[in-house]
Formats: sequence, structure tokens, C-alpha cells
Amino acid sequence: MIIGCGGVASVAINKCCQNSEVFTDIMIASRTKSKCDALKEKLEKTTKTNITTAKVDADNKEELVKLINSYKPDAVLNVALPYQDLTIMDACLEAGVNYIDTANYEAEDTNDPKWREIYEKRCKEKGFTAYFDYSWQWAYQEKFKNKNLTALLGSGFDPGVTSVFSAYALKHYFDEIHYIDILDCNGGDHGYPFATNFNPEINLREVSANGSYWENGHWVETKPMEIKREYNFPKVGKKDMYLLHHEEIESLAKNIPGVKRIRFFMTFGESYLTHMKCLENVGMLSTSPINFEGKEIVPIQFLKALLPDPASLGPRTIGKTNIGCIFKGIKNGKEKTIYIYNVCDHQECYKEVGSQAISYTTGVPAMIGSMLVVNGLWNKKGVFNVEEFDPDPFMEALNKWGLPWVVCENPEEVE
Ligand code: NDP
Repeated sequence: MIIGCGGVASVAINKCCQNSEVFTDIMIASRTKSKCDALKEKLEKTTKTNITTAKVDADNKEELVKLINSYKPDAVLNVALPYQDLTIMDACLEAGVNYIDTANYEAEDTNDPKWREIYEKRCKEKGFTAYFDYSWQWAYQEKFKNKNLTALLGSGFDPGVTSVFSAYALKHYFDEIHYIDILDCNGGDHGYPFATNFNPEINLREVSANGSYWENGHWVETKPMEIKREYNFPKVGKKDMYLLHHEEIESLAKNIPGVKRIRFFMTFGESYLTHMKCLENVGMLSTSPINFEGKEIVPIQFLKALLPDPASLGPRTIGKTNIGCIFKGIKNGKEKTIYIYNVCDHQECYKEVGSQAISYTTGVPAMIGSMLVVNGLWNKKGVFNVEEFDPDPFMEALNKWGLPWVVCENPEEVE
């Protein structure tokens, strides 16, 4: 069962339909059944997979449990929003099915005093101020284990493929990895002065927040966009990139033994950053409701309504993405550096599934993670991040399902 039918979900669903030997039956569910029906109509002529649709509000656990019990899937793939992670996990536990997602839990209302208290304690204890962290979902470890179920967290590209690259590098190339730089480059151009490539609310929150990185056992926090570097990306060229906080840093710091530093960089153009700063300065990125002419509105949700729908960028986006990781460490006593990356072409993705490369690079690994849970190749019981499983079948599937990767020895390093 797939919850959500937005940009990422539609790619994951397309890919499940291409892989109908594993996904013989799928249900697509979101609050707007008509969107799920439209996707079903488009895909059912091209696939052997039987597609069912339903309306569900994933903020409502009871509704979810009822739907899951009526359909009895092997797993639920959550490609709705991070706000729904915990209700969907609760519903999976109650209904006894496995769980997969692509983004860690984030509170929708960051002014909720109950949430704030826990958040502020965590900021002090851990040293980073992002609104999202893994503690909420890792807390389900025993519950999933006791029910003999798997919850696979972060099976998108970053987190997801970048985390699998890390496990693969450790398994095949290093005795110890000391430095990881995750580089996310979107060299695409959609022709609009300003638009986001995935859900604007989630994207803008992430980008306007403080940056942070992991070094020598603790977090170092920076001002938003404080650390800038230039990098010459294979198949894309030279781009400016900025250090951001990103969720896989937290899980890789826990799961890659001996790692000394993990950083995450994302490329942004001048126009994007100028627009974002302006919107932030006038209060349009706020998630706190305001009263406007007798109606309560949330500024960032209003902004979302004005911006181009990320799903509409597909036909007009040209260029390539390059996302990967540079690893530096030790093998047989000698220092070694490798770069593992994938290059994806926006127009080729659009031709194949009708979406741009950002949704494509997330939707494909969401399908692969679900496949490995459903076919039992990844079958540890409890709550796990993708790097905690054998990376080989995932890496093989990336080549097969549209995200081929390259290992480059002695690459240009990031200062
Ligand atoms: P969209 O906004 O395009 O889609 C979100 C979908 O969720 C919509 O179909 C919406 O449908 C559904 N949804 C929202 N609220 C609910 C609800 N209460 N109940 C049921 N369905 C709901 O987002 P994207 O596709 O761009 O992103 C999806 C997820 O992927 C996000 O969590 C995002 O953070 C993550 N992501 C992960 C990346 C990675 O590499 N790991 C990269 C990019 C995104 P409806 O309105 O009909 O309910």
C-alpha cells in the first residue's frame, strides 16, 4: 500500500508497476482519491499490477488501521509528508504490517508546547536545532521488533541511496571510513524565477534552517548558508554548494564506526537564494498561523499555493542531477578516497515516468526499499535505517531500475 500520490509517490508507483512480478497488487491512498484514480487510469493500461485506490487521512490512525486491515498489504510505503510518519507507524504496528518511508518525522505545528518542550531539550542535548530528528522513530525499535515487523527509514535518495553508498563503501572499499561528504547537485533549469523541486513547505524549511555537521563525536551548528564551496560535478560542471543540516548525518554518525566528520552540501543558484531570503524576511516561510480577514492562514502553506506545483516542472526542466558521497578513510593501512555518485537526466526521467529527476531519484529507491522488505531480502525486525542492511542487493537494483552509479577513485575533494 502506498500512502500519497504526489511527486515522489507517482514515481514510486510507476516503478512498482514496472516491477509487477514483485508488486502484483498495490493500493494508492491519499486524502484526494481523484488524484489516485487519475494515476491508476494512466498506469493500468501499461502494467500487470492490479491497482486499487482509496481515500485516507493519514493523520488519523483509526482510519489508516481500517484501510490497512481491509486491504491486508505486506507493507505500507509512506510517501505522504514527514508529518504523518508516526501515525502511519502506529497504524502499521496495530495492523501488523511492515513500514517504509523516505523522510524522518517532523512536527507540523512547531508551536505546539508539548512538542516544543521535547524539541528544546533535544537541541540542548544533541546540539542541532533542526525541527526533525530520528529520536521519534527510533523510539519504535522495540515495538516493531516485538511484533516481528520491519520499519525501514529513509529509503529515498538522500537519505537513502547516499546511506546505501556509505554501507557499500565500508563493505567493499574501506577498513574504516573517517570522512564523508554528501554532495547533492541539481544542475537542472525549469525556467521559472523561483520554484521548489519537491514539496515547497518541506524544502523551504530545510533550506532556511541552520546548517550543521558531525565532527569528532558532536554536532557543529552553522548559520543558514554560512559555509559555501564550489565543486566541479561530473557531467554537470562547476556549481556553488552550501552546507546544510541533513537527516542522514544523524544515522550515519551512529552506524558508520569510527567516522570523524560527516557533512552535507546542496547546490543552489543565486536567484533561488535571493528569492528565498526575501520570502523569509517578509515572513512568508513562517509555519505559525496568522489571522487574515477573519480567516486563519499559515504563510508557508499560502506560499505553496502560489508556487508552481513541483509535479508541473517535469516537462520544462532540462539538465542533470549528480548526487553522491566522497569517502575518505583507510584500507590495508593506507589512506584512500573514493566518490560514488549517480547522474540523472531530468528530460529522460520525464520521458520515462512523467516526472523530473528530483522525484525520480527519490521514488526509485522508495520502490527498491519496499521491494527488499516485501521479498524478504531485508528482513531484520525492528526499526532500521537503510545503511544497516546489506547494501549489495540495493546497489544492484539501482543499476537495474534506472539509477546507475559510478565509483571514482581519487576524486576532487571538498576543502
Ligand atoms: P507532495 O507534496 O508532492 O506529495 C505529498 C503527498 O502526500 C500528496 O499526494 C498528498 O495527497 C499526500 N498527503 C499529504 N497529507 C496527507 C494526509 N494527511 N493523508 C494522506 N495523504 C496525505 O510531496 P513529495 O512527493 O514531493 O514528497 C513526498 C515525501 O518525500 C516527503 O516526505 C518528502 O520529505 C520526501 N522526500 C524525500 C527525499 C529523499 O531523497 N529522501 C527527497 C524528496 C522528498 P493528498 O493531498 O491527496 O492527501
